[in-house]
Amino acid sequence: QTHGETGSYKTTCCYCGVGCGIVVHKDRMGKVLVEGDKDHPVNKGMLCSKGMNLHYTVMNTSDRLLYPEMRYNKQMQRQRVTWDEALARTAAVFKTFINKYGPDSVAFYVSGQCLTEEYYVINKLIKGFIGSNNIDTNSRLCMSSAVAAYKMSLGEDSVPACYDDIEETDCIFVAGANPAWCHPILWRRVEAAKAANPNMKVIVSDPRVTQTCSMADVHLQLNPGTDIVLHHAIGRILIEQGDIDIKFIQQHTEGFEDYSHAVMQRSIAEAAQICGIEEYRIYEAAALIGNAKKFMTFWTMGLNQSAAGVNKNLSLINLHLITGTIGRPGCGPFSLTGQPNAMGGREVGGLANLLPAHRDLSNPVHREEVATFWNGKELSPRPGLTATEMFEALNDGKLKAIWIICTNPLISMPDVRMAEKGLKNAKFVVVQDISNRLETLPYADVVLPAAAWIEKEGTMTNAERRITWLQKVTDAPGEALPDAEIICRFAKHMGFNGFDYNSCEAIFKEHAALTAGTNIDINGVDYTLLHQRRSVQWPVNTSNNYNDTKRLFADHIFHTKSKRAKIHGVPDCNPSVQPTANHPLILTTGRIRDQWHTMSKTGKVNKLKQHIAASFLEIHPDDAAERGIADDDLVEITNTNGNVRVKAKISTQIKKGVVFLPMHWGKILNDDSNRANNLTFNLIDPISKQPDFKFSIVQVAKY
Ligand code: SF4
Repeated sequence: QTHGETGSYKTTCCYCGVGCGIVVHKDRMGKVLVEGDKDHPVNKGMLCSKGMNLHYTVMNTSDRLLYPEMRYNKQMQRQRVTWDEALARTAAVFKTFINKYGPDSVAFYVSGQCLTEEYYVINKLIKGFIGSNNIDTNSRLCMSSAVAAYKMSLGEDSVPACYDDIEETDCIFVAGANPAWCHPILWRRVEAAKAANPNMKVIVSDPRVTQTCSMADVHLQLNPGTDIVLHHAIGRILIEQGDIDIKFIQQHTEGFEDYSHAVMQRSIAEAAQICGIEEYRIYEAAALIGNAKKFMTFWTMGLNQSAAGVNKNLSLINLHLITGTIGRPGCGPFSLTGQPNAMGGREVGGLANLLPAHRDLSNPVHREEVATFWNGKELSPRPGLTATEMFEALNDGKLKAIWIICTNPLISMPDVRMAEKGLKNAKFVVVQDISNRLETLPYADVVLPAAAWIEKEGTMTNAERRITWLQKVTDAPGEALPDAEIICRFAKHMGFNGFDYNSCEAIFKEHAALTAGTNIDINGVDYTLLHQRRSVQWPVNTSNNYNDTKRLFADHIFHTKSKRAKIHGVPDCNPSVQPTANHPLILTTGRIRDQWHTMSKTGKVNKLKQHIAASFLEIHPDDAAERGIADDDLVEITNTNGNVRVKAKISTQIKKGVVFLPMHWGKILNDDSNRANNLTFNLIDPISKQPDFKFSIVQVAKY
């Protein structure tokens, strides 16, 4: 189907990292309807509530940014301008700052929702041509702890398993995740697999009783921040009961002795007490894992969004390395990606510390390879600013200009009022996005309207390394342009050669060529192949006749220097700010079923408000009673960072001493009292730089 014609077009859902295939039907009036793609290997025709209602977000263009806007100083109102005027002025300001303060005075803050081609050109522009590594993405808030842990344990940021392993496995341990709400179609597959094989076991660890727990054989309702203690206790039981794979450990791993020593430091009784769960529950979970021939783990933000996020990830991956459950059908650690293309962004190196094709910025050989491929200009060895560091640098004046693409940091950043001060303080702010409802817009000096889902083509990689091509179905409204085209036009205004692509596919082919010879080699893959095959799982290249690689490490040769996987005996301490007499409750934040991120798309769909229409505070009955709070009372949640006011939802589904706020809501008519990140701390994991969203301390009172 050629774009513009009526008919059916194949694409991929633009929300979560499950990556469901979608067929878009377009009629003669240009009206679109969506349905699940029955031929897509991920979802086999199914869609969740968010995916099913995607056409409403496309058809309702009432909030779309339509024309470039600009102002010459902060006192002016922005005026509509032409693309050339907006980009020429932006280029002039960027050049001024770069000449005066150096290339690290400018930065791009992008998104796991950007397409791979978009990520590629932005990364190439800043690292290869501007000469700074100041590009980071909201994936830093989502996946960076998993990325670091994969590298440290397996030698590469590589999800070893695939979705088909769900139907093969005996046991799934879901750690700190609620896939029943956040990755619904993946969870439908788990439900179907368990129905078909009642012997399949499910373990869930979460301080809340979520929808996911309804299918759990064992729910470990642990205290926030105690995941490593739990994983170590399970590891200790597996070792003591002989439920480990000695041969695998000896032949394919290193570090087991240190690990053994680390896990033996606490008795199971002590671990149970720290985790706030019954001792026998830990034995039950360990027995299910020990008895399973095939074992998978799924995890997301409960482990990643932590000041000990990398260690939490490592402690979970260790359970696979000591049981030899990796690289085989039905086995493997599987970090569930929150965003649709967080993985594609990592493939092109679109983070402050990465280079394309999983190359390392700190490696001079890798820098040389990429520089030679792009234009011969030496790449800076200085790591760029990460997400939270960018806003800190705006605050202290080190960073002068920030270009924000497809993300809404004034809802999603930790200690968001600090981030807001950063934007107020910035000398120059560019916002490139689709919606006029973004909280960042009042701070923007230049606004660039972007094309949305199905208004542009490109590729995305889902959580199981599956690359799918997204077809263009319809034209963008007004003068909105695809993000990649905006960046290429800007590069020309900067006077850079190397951005003269005659198609989006040309960008993809350049990216694919840069992967040649690496562990994620997709050299030779093009849109024709993706169109014919619908999707491919990397690595795919001549060496495997362009067949999908369903699983990595099937040969048990890992990508570390020693070719062995590394078992890390990590410390089990929790570096989060601990509760005090003034702030005795632990706040954890997260998603609800029918909303996506900061609601700039799902917030437009009335049907998606029927499930949960407003923010709320989930609180245990004992904590509510102590404070004289009744169900539906308006309550104020406070700490040293700020406050939030929402209605209380009293529930036994949350652990005593813990409260929960959804993360989606932002400012409504200048009122930010629903914004959960007013209360989160700007504390980050020292390795991954991922923030500690899941553990803040607060007090709650009736308002
Ligand atoms: Fe979209 Fe994720 Fe729902 Fe699939 S599960 S339809 S990818 S939001």
